[in-house]
Amino acid sequence: MKPAIADGHAVTIHYRLTLDDGTIADDSFGGDPLVYLHGASNIVPGLEKELLGKNVGETCEVEVAPAEGYGEYDPTAEQSVPKSAFPPNAPLEPGMSFQTRGPRGQPMPVWVRKIEEENVIITANHPLAGQRLSFKVEVVDVREATAEELQHGHVHGPGGHHH
Ligand code: ZN
Repeated sequence: MKPAIADGHAVTIHYRLTLDDGTIADDSFGGDPLVYLHGASNIVPGLEKELLGKNVGETCEVEVAPAEGYGEYDPTAEQSVPKSAFPPNAPLEPGMSFQTRGPRGQPMPVWVRKIEEENVIITANHPLAGQRLSFKVEVVDVREATAEELQHGHVHGPGGHHH
């Protein structure tokens, strides 16, 4: 008997993420499932909350509001950075993300929103900020996480260590 989903468990799911306009933003069905550590904020809070207590073999549909997903869209969270601030050979593409430092020195992800002639517009908004998220989820496997996984705060794939 596999345990139900709870904090400290490594959970394998298939999921399909659909946006309000019908766009499928992500889909693991037919491909590799997602393995995450429950209770470690590996997935958006609204989905993590709904999966608590679910069992292997269960399927569910979960609607997640922006605040419980990738956050509300903040139009002020944009900044124009001269291209010269990036390494000369850095491949710059809209949608790509990188780490920067927030006001208190904390690591903060930002995304490239637009590339202009001289400047790059970056934003602290996740590309899916402001979107309601509709997930279809199938719970494929649940097991106790290893001590190492708990320490790392995520699950390591079959290929071993990934970082
Ligand atoms: Zn690790």
